[in-house]
Amino acid sequence: MPRILITGAAGFLGSHLCDRFIKEGYDVVGMDNLITGDLKNIEHLFKLKEFEFYHHDVSKFVHVSGRLDYILHFASPASPIDYLKIPIQTLKVGSLGTHNCLGLAKDKKARILVASTSEVYGDPMVHPQKEDYWGNVNPVGPRGVYDEAKRFQEAITMAYHTYHGLETRIVRIFNTYGPRMRLNDGRVLPAFIGQALRGEDLTVFGDGSQTRSFCFVDDLVEGIYRLLLSDYAYPVNIGNPDEITIKEFGEEIIKLTGTKQKLIYKPLPKDDPKQRQPNIDLAKKLLGWEPKVSRAEGLKITYDYFKNLPPEELHKSAHRFD
Ligand code: UDP
Repeated sequence: MPRILITGAAGFLGSHLCDRFIKEGYDVVGMDNLITGDLKNIEHLFKLKEFEFYHHDVSKFVHVSGRLDYILHFASPASPIDYLKIPIQTLKVGSLGTHNCLGLAKDKKARILVASTSEVYGDPMVHPQKEDYWGNVNPVGPRGVYDEAKRFQEAITMAYHTYHGLETRIVRIFNTYGPRMRLNDGRVLPAFIGQALRGEDLTVFGDGSQTRSFCFVDDLVEGIYRLLLSDYAYPVNIGNPDEITIKEFGEEIIKLTGTKQKLIYKPLPKDDPKQRQPNIDLAKKLLGWEPKVSRAEGLKITYDYFKNLPPEELHKSAHRFD
């Protein structure tokens, strides 16, 4: 059986990746420091002999005994509220954490895939965003800690590829949603659904004309799985090009949840990207991949997940670092 290390295993994406690789017959080593991750996301895996878990901060030296064939580096805070609250950890996990994972991959002769992000494009001047666009990022703005850590991550990953001949993969992940997102992570989808379930108005930032393109988690996982097994070392966008304004998105959530509440408007956070849509031509060509789950289907599955959470989850403070 191939053996894979997944950092950020207790997080939203990490936990879905653990499930997928277990299903594919891999032995999975999960690693997480549980700052933003939650063991609840992977507790169903602890009984399996194919799964082991290290409670460890990947920004510190990483040791994993035995063979490793693959590494997926997914540890990182990933919502703007999280990385505003824990900026130093965000910078460290994208830089030092990536360096540690690359060193481990080199030592084990493992192939590594790192989780990059559409944030490397910043507030983009090119639309939709293609992999050869270099981005428009403010290094000293609130998002700089995440965006620049991820840009450094791509650079050091390419350096290990060209200098050490390491087998590397880089996925640029666009907005993704689905079960196991943290209700209080500040992202727009859990924010809106949480507000609807609590009977509060839905907070649209700015005038809601900014756009995002939301990908259901199962589609994303499929794209990552194919990219890992491909032989392409340069960045690949994985996301759903179905673009929508945040105002329309709020209206969809109101309809889906049947809430009597309305949209209310709050100031737009600094450096909030105006538009975002992946160009996925490369993923289509290279991986034969494209998203299959429509927003209507994906939102229904996600809403059912949030609706069935224990009520105390719903009323936890708006944010876990508050
Ligand atoms: N947003 C919003 N209301 C909220 C949370 C977010 O209108 O309660 C907006 C946010 O300003 C951004 C978009 O929704 O324009 C997506 O935000 P998110 O934090 O989910 O991710 P981003 O794509 O900005 O990293």
